[in-house]
Amino acid sequence: MATLLDGRLLAARIETRLAEAIGAGLAQAGRPPGLAVLRVGDDPASGVYVANKEKACSRVGITNLGAHLAADTPAAEVLATIERLNADPAVDGILLQLPLPAGLDEGPLLAAIDPAKDADGLHTLNLGRLLKGEPGPRSCTPAGVMALLAAAGVEPAGKRAVVVGRSILVGQPMALMLQAANATVTVAHSRTGDLAALTRQADVLVVAAGRPGMIGAEHVQPGAVVVDVGIHRRPEGGLCGDVRFDEVEPIASAISPVPGGVGPMTVTMLLVNTVTGWCGRCGLTNPLTDLLP
Ligand code: NDP
Repeated sequence: MATLLDGRLLAARIETRLAEAIGAGLAQAGRPPGLAVLRVGDDPASGVYVANKEKACSRVGITNLGAHLAADTPAAEVLATIERLNADPAVDGILLQLPLPAGLDEGPLLAAIDPAKDADGLHTLNLGRLLKGEPGPRSCTPAGVMALLAAAGVEPAGKRAVVVGRSILVGQPMALMLQAANATVTVAHSRTGDLAALTRQADVLVVAAGRPGMIGAEHVQPGAVVVDVGIHRRPEGGLCGDVRFDEVEPIASAISPVPGGVGPMTVTMLLVNTVTGWCGRCGLTNPLTDLLP
């Protein structure tokens, strides 16, 4: 039976560490960490994600300094809000919740976020820092996967890793993080021929293709560690991932469930990036560096 890569449990443990770090640094810092989640419009799924992030902030003692703008807010006004948050000394992290309403171009708005406050770790400068191995906020989902692997004692060094998906949000930074941890990494995408032959070579298989149930037993070598980033709402209700869990679990040595695997870790790494920014800004020693790939 495979070890369960339990993201809920690990996220709760890291939240305890975050709350302790904030409690320990509060007097010297003179203020709590602040995260601004900026939401534009009323996309219902985004509403749920933003509420989850806000609840997580309040559990650990991060002040929520976010704003919710109307769907018809002009780009100049969204930009002005980002610039105000950039200049606000109480804000350590800024996150622009995507997708934006039709008509708003996310590119220039994401680029306007101060890279030092880029809680999502997706600013061009921070992706460049990841590429060069320089410190900086790391993309939350792949950083969460690295934390899940570390907590399960999976050491990527010397292993063969395959990442399915090459998005800027997940696949690309995931491959860079695994490579930085000395895995030998191959990235698969929609034009990869004979995907199963490739994924069967993986000691560590990370799937972020956004295709419900696409990875089955035929894609996995016995004993592999399988991380499922995909998340989908089933037509009949409930959530599922890109991996057919019931089929792969008996073969894998470890596997992440959906829900309860990578999802909770993504939110937690957002908090880690925010508290890391706060430590830097307030001259505190960061006790969370082991969580930064
Ligand atoms: P994208 O749609 O941006 O990227 C999907 C990637 O998968 C692309 O690179 C695509 O290839 C590749 N792909 C698609 N189909 C196949 C296939 N049949 N075989 C091999 N590769 C394929 O998705 P994201 O990276 O943003 O997200 C991926 C999944 O992860 C989604 O389900 C998303 O909901 C989930 N997610 C979950 C998070 C969490 O916290 N748990 C956070 C972020 C995302 P190509 O480049 O050629 O098009």
